Amino acid sequence: MKKILQDLSRGEIEKLVETHGEKKYRAQQLYTGLMQGKKISELPLPAAFREALLSEYEDEPVRVREVFSSQEDGTKKFLFELADGNLIEGVLMQYKYGATQCVSTQAGCRMGCKFCASTLGGLIRNLTAGEILSQILTVNRLQGGTTEKRAVKNVVLMGSGEPFDNYGEVVRFLRNATAEDGIGISIRNISLSTCGLVPEMKRFASEGLPLNLTVSLHASSDEERQRLMPVARAYSIAQILDACAYYFEKTSRRYIFEYSLVAGENCDEAHALALARLLKGKPCHVNLIRLNEVKERGLKTVTEKEAYRFLGVLEKNKISATLRRSMGGDIGGACGQLRASYLAEKEKIHED
Ligand code: SAH
Repeated sequence: MKKILQDLSRGEIEKLVETHGEKKYRAQQLYTGLMQGKKISELPLPAAFREALLSEYEDEPVRVREVFSSQEDGTKKFLFELADGNLIEGVLMQYKYGATQCVSTQAGCRMGCKFCASTLGGLIRNLTAGEILSQILTVNRLQGGTTEKRAVKNVVLMGSGEPFDNYGEVVRFLRNATAEDGIGISIRNISLSTCGLVPEMKRFASEGLPLNLTVSLHASSDEERQRLMPVARAYSIAQILDACAYYFEKTSRRYIFEYSLVAGENCDEAHALALARLLKGKPCHVNLIRLNEVKERGLKTVTEKEAYRFLGVLEKNKISATLRRSMGGDIGGACGQLRASYLAEKEKIHED
């Protein structure tokens, strides 16, 4: 695979233009074009410079392979193809406060959570900063957005992959995505979800990137958490709460816990009470979500009534919490399922 031009910051693009002996204003032209989601081959550059770039860099790092649109709520799911043929997926959800794009940080994942489709085939590879950014640039352009008037307002790093397992590229992506002269997404409009890699959570607190930190908790005791998430054997809930407190101390940002309700595992009244006890008085919010059933996983979701009962217990105990509504139900389930079903379909075709 060639290199990814969208990995570079504005300053690095300037240096690149200089090394090629091109005039300074070309840097602005090149950078603006890229941030508008254009391919190198579409940019109005001198032919020789364009050819030189194309011999070294991918013309289209992230190509839209398919789009599925929900008739119910306007949600769109994207199947993207990377330059080496790997597939990743993304979602664009329409909320009252603006469109939110869910992006992937790795092809596959090695965290092995028992309910998740993205980790079924293990980690394939890390995405580069530019491949993460290009998911946004591509969707923004497809939706008719520009750098001045963006069609994508919020970004959540909740697609396939564990962002903190690809720390360097994710931090580079965050710096480039929030650069004011680029696509200019506000750091406050970005959420990063981690399964709880404690050392990286602590390190991230000092990066000067005060985003919305979200931690996948899914249980209130280490024993129960270990049944759902192998990573819980490496870091305890106490260590995670410590890291969250440190993040709050450094950034003054409230943190969020994701809690997916899985039948027979973590959703009784006793679990809700234990969670309330654990989080009492902490500057946090709990996002409940009913498990999105993944065929290959065999775990079952809870009824809406059970989910509301769980929420009620948290609220009664003064824990700030919401039950997230599931979006795009008519276009195929949770993150990772789209890619998994696409690959399965392809295999079927090859077998026939
Ligand atoms: N690696 C990151 C991002 C994962 S996806 C993390 O672990 O946080 C974002 C959220 O969806 C996580 O909270 C994850 O645990 C949850 N999730 C994954 N599969 C799910 C499923 N089938 N149903 C409900 N939530 C799921």
